[in-house]
Amino acid sequence: MSELDHIDFRANVQHVPAHVPQSVRKATSKFLGTRANVVGIVGDERWQQLRQAGHDIRLHTLDHLDYYLTRLEENVARAGGIVHWARDADEARRIVLDIAHEHKVKRAVKAKSMATEEIGLNHALIDAGVQTLETDLGEFIIQLAGVGPSHIIVPAVHLTKEGIADLFTEKLGVNAPPDPLELCAIARTKLREEFLAADMGISGANFMVAESGTLVIVTNEGNGRMCTTLPPLHVAVVGIDKVVPDFESVNVLLKLLPRSATGQKMSTYTSFITGPRRATDEGGPQEFHLVLLDNGRTRVLRDHVTRETLLCIRCGVCLNVCPVYNHVGGHAYGAVYSGPIGAILAPQLLGVARAGDLPFASSLCGACADYCPVKIPIPQILLRLRHRVVEGDQIEAATASSAIRVGTRVGAFALSHSLLYEFGARMMKFVQAPLRRDGWLPNLPPPANRWTMARPLPAFGADFRDWFRKRTPAGRQRVQKRKLGIGLLFAGIAAVGAFLLARRKKD
Ligand code: SF4
Repeated sequence: MSELDHIDFRANVQHVPAHVPQSVRKATSKFLGTRANVVGIVGDERWQQLRQAGHDIRLHTLDHLDYYLTRLEENVARAGGIVHWARDADEARRIVLDIAHEHKVKRAVKAKSMATEEIGLNHALIDAGVQTLETDLGEFIIQLAGVGPSHIIVPAVHLTKEGIADLFTEKLGVNAPPDPLELCAIARTKLREEFLAADMGISGANFMVAESGTLVIVTNEGNGRMCTTLPPLHVAVVGIDKVVPDFESVNVLLKLLPRSATGQKMSTYTSFITGPRRATDEGGPQEFHLVLLDNGRTRVLRDHVTRETLLCIRCGVCLNVCPVYNHVGGHAYGAVYSGPIGAILAPQLLGVARAGDLPFASSLCGACADYCPVKIPIPQILLRLRHRVVEGDQIEAATASSAIRVGTRVGAFALSHSLLYEFGARMMKFVQAPLRRDGWLPNLPPPANRWTMARPLPAFGADFRDWFRKRTPAGRQRVQKRKLGIGLLFAGIAAVGAFLLARRKKD
């Protein structure tokens, strides 16, 4: 499918292989069973308190995202890491490819990461001549199969052990029996060589701790630790929504994530990575890069209802309880994120023109919201997105990336040229006067009306430079003198003009 193809959910459903619903339900019911046990031990009252705490932490972070991302950047840099900001998938891929070229990387190993799936990093690296291998068992299997993930945490959930054995036999040239232990052993042998030979390790992160610049990576196979410590170079690609304020927050979220995802009290491995190897460390990468990925997330933030989509901690339990997902599996959604979270995230990241079918791929039974560990109101968001599909995506139109790019460039130019800024500020006061209503500009003419269709724009206020100058008595005196000087200058120019005019008339 091309990047711009419309996702036709109904057509995709027609192509779901007959065995998929059974394979999917087998895995999801197992996870739901183990989840029920561990949540039962916590007790409903305490579980609901934890869910509310998780929701509050994530919402607080979203409300102050700029602050926590800035802190994160400072602390990653302080620990010796290098931070890159990627506006979109193109930019993120370019950053990683540049790092790979700079270090002459030939082989890369990758831990499971939805953000790198989102930007199509594997294809870009392989096209650039970097041999790139997924090391999470499920991801390794679907990489061999040449398909995308079918579930957020169990990427190969749609496959049977017989299908995996055939795949290993065909692609790895081994005689693989349909026995899970033997299949794991075959994969482990292959991956062990790759960890040791790789020049670059790539990972995502479950959380990024702003107070210390630490990445938290949760895995059950230990491959995350291998990817981030054995190769001499570690590059992490993480969505900006994954930042959390501090370790207290991580403590709460780590109580929710593994219980909801796999029904474990805690996952087998939880790695905390702060910067590259230090002088006293025995191992670890010599260089660490963190690519902070926006790719539409700041656009999601702009709608006060749908923005809660970004609270997601990617546990996957909403997929496990969803009757639609259980019936069709992940590939029918035609996007990296599937199930209820995919039905609300994909249309916001990809646009409703492309993924507008997905909010309708739901029975609105509400089970996803009842199970979501951070209490995302998925049904409300689905309804909001359905409205957006029917009425046209004004949020998207109002925030067209080209308009934002032009606007920010003009703004940056004006702000860095003081005379232009001062002149512009004075002009703005006159120009906006007929459109101003109670300190706001509710209706701007085209093309600026694309912004005011979705929200009003605050009227241009006091000239900051004027205010700054006048804030002290000495400054006020200087302003008076300046005004006097400008007045005298204009009077002088007028006098000279009048004199020249009078002389011309005389001649
Ligand atoms: S929306 Fe909620 S339930 Fe679904 S993956 Fe995200 S955190 Fe988990």
